[in-house]
Amino acid sequence: MSGRIPVIAGNWKMFKTNSEAGAYVAELLPLVADADSVEIIICPPFTSLAEVRRETEGSRVRVAAQNVHFEPEGAFTGEISLGMLREIGISDVILGHSERRQYFCENDADLARKVSAALGAGIRPILCVGESDQERESGRTGEKLGSQLRGGLASIDGGQLAGMIVAYEPIWAIGTGKTATPQIAQETISFIRGTLAQQFGAEAAASVRILYGGSVKPGNISELMTEPDIDGALVGGACLSATDFAQIVKFG
Ligand code: PEP
Repeated sequence: MSGRIPVIAGNWKMFKTNSEAGAYVAELLPLVADADSVEIIICPPFTSLAEVRRETEGSRVRVAAQNVHFEPEGAFTGEISLGMLREIGISDVILGHSERRQYFCENDADLARKVSAALGAGIRPILCVGESDQERESGRTGEKLGSQLRGGLASIDGGQLAGMIVAYEPIWAIGTGKTATPQIAQETISFIRGTLAQQFGAEAAASVRILYGGSVKPGNISELMTEPDIDGALVGGACLSATDFAQIVKFG
């Protein structure tokens, strides 16, 4: 037993209006009320964060943002600060999702600042890393993950690492229906844990939760969760249905 509590997080991406978010939470809460050995996180768009946080008050469901700026405030049109998230009770933030890296030019240097600012503000980062199809096929997965981890975690120490979450999300598996096999996910997450051990020491690496993300569904979660280094999942498409997400929370 690793002693690491499993985490299932649902990334809504740019889906659901505020009223749809309310209906979703009302449906989800009774379905996951007895799932007390799993940490549950939902990640709505900014417009529904406050509402979802209010509606989940008193439940075990944590609420995360999908991005944040590293500066405390300023002339950054369209951005949201950690203080704004904190004031409405947001506990976690996804950082470095491949869609943000690809479409919004987020780089490892920005992410290092975001990770360290989030930890400083008491908001737990969920740092996403992952390789493309071409990188895997040309044998450069380790190189890519190593540089994302070194870059994104450049400003923290081992004690801080243990307090965050890492998500391994191969780009070729996101939204494609092509899930990594449990063996590939395990092997790659074990490589990530080994890289973190070199960077931060064995103890910190053994305590950090590392999730798998990429076409996770009710039908494939249980086999992924049998792997020793996989501590949970970051779920995109399948989390948009409260019943499917609840099934994933219960490992299918
Ligand atoms: C994601 O966007 O983080 C994700 C894993 O998406 P999907 O589950 O749809 O592949």
